[in-house]
Amino acid sequence: MLLKNKINNLKSIVNKSEILLDEAELYCYAEDSTSVHSKVQSPDAVVFVKNIQDVQNIVRYANENGIPVISRGAGTNMVGACTCPQGGIVLNFSKMNKILDFNPIDMTMTVQPGVVLDDIKNLAGENGLFYPPDPSNYKVSTIGGSIAQSSGGAAGFKYGTTKDYILSLTVVLADGTLMKLGSDTIKDAVGYHLNQLMIGSEGTLAIVVEAVLKLIPKPQSSRTVLAYFNSLDDAVEGVNNIMRDRIFPATIDFMDNNSIFTVEQFYPCGLRTDKAAMLLINIDGFEVSMDYQQQCVERALKSAKASNIEVAKSDLEIERVWTARRASFAATAKLAPDVLSDDIIVPRSAISKMVSGCKNICDKYNLKVCMVGHLGDGNIHPQVALNLENENEFKNYFQAKAEMYDLAKSLGGTISAEHGVGLEKVEYLGNIVDNAAIDYMKKIKKFFDPNNILNPGKIFKI
Ligand SMILES: Cc1cc2nc3c(=O)[nH]c(=O)nc-3n(C[C@H](O)[C@H](O)[C@H](O)COP(=O)(O)OP(=O)(O)OC[C@H]3O[C@@H](n4cnc5c(N)ncnc54)[C@H](O)[C@@H]3O)c2cc1C
Repeated sequence: MLLKNKINNLKSIVNKSEILLDEAELYCYAEDSTSVHSKVQSPDAVVFVKNIQDVQNIVRYANENGIPVISRGAGTNMVGACTCPQGGIVLNFSKMNKILDFNPIDMTMTVQPGVVLDDIKNLAGENGLFYPPDPSNYKVSTIGGSIAQSSGGAAGFKYGTTKDYILSLTVVLADGTLMKLGSDTIKDAVGYHLNQLMIGSEGTLAIVVEAVLKLIPKPQSSRTVLAYFNSLDDAVEGVNNIMRDRIFPATIDFMDNNSIFTVEQFYPCGLRTDKAAMLLINIDGFEVSMDYQQQCVERALKSAKASNIEVAKSDLEIERVWTARRASFAATAKLAPDVLSDDIIVPRSAISKMVSGCKNICDKYNLKVCMVGHLGDGNIHPQVALNLENENEFKNYFQAKAEMYDLAKSLGGTISAEHGVGLEKVEYLGNIVDNAAIDYMKKIKKFFDPNNILNPGKIFKI
């Protein structure tokens, strides 16, 4: 626990009605969307910051007193990235949730870090524009969290991820200094791209207090093609055919039979539960191109022995099938007390080996796994339902996880495509990232945050 006088001093820095100190309230901030912590630690205080100055004042005070500062958006990351293993002050950004500027000619939006992605997407959409990054929980997750975790989503295949839509960032450094990084222009070749360095840095280098986002024109039309297969290999062959034919859908997502079955059990959407795998393919573009794109996709899928192909054309139907896909984590969570989702990525050509390898590893350790993923990217999410209090399952899970990571490495992939490292993957970092590169990362961290107050313990131990 922090000394009481240090906490009391916080009351002279920000309005005391914006500070939580009650034990029960603090406990709500001890966890995020992962559940593997053996020991849960509450922060010492939570502050609802309302403006940049609040952030600067708190960070400056924390730096002078060696107090950890943990930024928090919606708390939905899956790697323990906004937990507080050393206590400290949580900055809650839910009151810095305004869209500050929207410029339809420059096609940019200036946002505070607590803005929910859905609000960004909606305002862009109402004006014929598009903000593509779409983590499956975009209806609740924030832009600050997305920037910090380098979030992706289904649209990554065609449109890229968060890193491709950040023009400039305004950040507060560990000593409270305010700094603007990047330029609000489409191109910028002036010096080091420090704005990009912040993306994926998990709140360990600086705190984002404003971001200027790039928007693109919204595709005029879209359709979702669902294709079912009698084997996983056929589904992967369907993806390979799409690549070979140089078709460029917006997304190529996938659900295995366990996922389809589990979703249908809890959120019935009319998916075919007797099939080994399903691909969800979005095509988009000019309305006149839709029939042609659909024909190309269907031809590629048929030559991979797709057993059934269905097309959702209306917005309502498209929303229905994507809701099914996005519900898979929540549905898997109903199978056991805990669910752990991973986000391995391999080169596309190795996806078949990775998917079947993960399945075999989970079978070997008797783990129930529902697999979904952004197959077009080579990115899969094995979602394991288990009881972490069962010693055997706990041990088996960690053995299986290590084997899945080794397999990803041997196939030329890596251990996180879009969820980040947080606390969960710290111990695996040395196995996947060049040791010299980790040394450089640590030097960068030390330069930005000499007293190690910004989200300490995440990504690596200093
Ligand atoms: C059901 C489900 C599905 C998901 N699907 C996907 C998916 O498809 N693709 C994907 O990429 N992710 C996915 N995720 C993960 C999650 O969406 C992302 O990690 C998300 O973007 C985190 O946003 P958040 O607001 O919840 O951030 P939080 O969890 O609150 O924080 C995440 C990180 O950001 C830091 N942070 C927050 N605000 C700031 C700030 N202002 N400045 C600096 N650092 C900050 C925190 O300290 C922490 O390190 C999923 C999660 C769930 C629960």
